[in-house]
Amino acid sequence: MNKKIILTGDRPTGRLHLGHYVGSLRRRVELQNSGLFDKIFILIADAQALTDNADNPEKVRQNIIEVALDYLSVGIDPTKSTIFIQTMVPELTELAFYYMNLVTVARVQRNPTVKTEIQMRNFEKSIPLGFFSYPVSQAADITAFKATTVPVGEDQEPMIEITREIVGRFNNIYGETLVEPEILLPDNAACMRLPGTDGKAKMSKSLGNCIYLSDVAKDVAKKVKSMYTDPLHLNISDPGHLEGNCPFIYLDAFCKDEHFERYCPDYANLDEMKAHYTRGGLGDGTVKKLLINVLEELLAPIRERRKQFEQDIPAVYEILQKGSEEARIAAAETLNDVRNAMKLNYFGDSTLIEEQSKRYKAQ
Ligand code: ATP
Ligand code: MG
Repeated sequence: MNKKIILTGDRPTGRLHLGHYVGSLRRRVELQNSGLFDKIFILIADAQALTDNADNPEKVRQNIIEVALDYLSVGIDPTKSTIFIQTMVPELTELAFYYMNLVTVARVQRNPTVKTEIQMRNFEKSIPLGFFSYPVSQAADITAFKATTVPVGEDQEPMIEITREIVGRFNNIYGETLVEPEILLPDNAACMRLPGTDGKAKMSKSLGNCIYLSDVAKDVAKKVKSMYTDPLHLNISDPGHLEGNCPFIYLDAFCKDEHFERYCPDYANLDEMKAHYTRGGLGDGTVKKLLINVLEELLAPIRERRKQFEQDIPAVYEILQKGSEEARIAAAETLNDVRNAMKLNYFGDSTLIEEQSKRYKAQ
């Protein structure tokens, strides 16, 4: 039977937030503990982070440990998952270079996530070539580990599509070598693309609209209280709208029926609460209070575990070093297959040398 392998990761551009949690981290931990996968690789994408932070390498360097601490605190277990740093596996860069020949500029330009990100960063007039080509680098990351499954948020769908195309083209031209990955999206719409606390776009480190996994309780409460709700819901008695209403979207992502028993026994579940809000008569304060409780229940143990790992930072770097060494071995194997398939093997090949000698002797 074919091996089941996961590859996923995050850019070290800041601490991880609730969007990462529902979009990817929660699933990763479940998959890790399911025992259904032969290998799980989790990459801290520092090279990718540099594609739009080239002038700020210190930011990337500082955030490696932050992301690693966030991983460990949500329950990623280095004895079950291999956590590694992208640039410590230079094989990935070489793979990306070969894959660039298999994708057109027009194809990347059509990628809706790249389009949005270019706008977000005001890159329209001067897109760094490295940034533009990061979908290809992601294809290298995924295929280097022969990943079958990539659990990520919805924004990554176009990237996985490009990866699949690269794999198809590669195998077609050079012979069956690479494995085509499947994307694994969150099963709940609110988790696919969690909006920021401003109600705009997605929660994203670069937009400053995040609730971080490591935020203290006081800050979480403050951020929830200032969340965007329904501008038409001025008086409690007014009928409220759920569309684009942040606290409700977050409750969709985080709340279970059992939370109502504990924190808001007036309702049996979220549907009942939503119905009351839509009818009128339910204030935003009550909804936000429930959300604060739900988030605190989730975040308190994560915060606690983070504190423990923070006590031994050298041990965290050791985990990253060991993981990177392991990842390098796996990627080198694929790179070797790729080079052989592309006939980039000149020295150990006695047939090639003999053939060339014969050709010249015959002249
Ligand atoms: P940056 O602003 O630096 O791009 P980011 O906050 O967008 O950072 P990434 O490191 O790009 O985070 O994303 C890592 C993973 O988290 C991806 O799988 C992505 O799909 C998922 N993710 C990020 N933000 C969200 C979100 N708001 N909702 C759901 N998933 C998300
Ligand atoms: Mg991003």
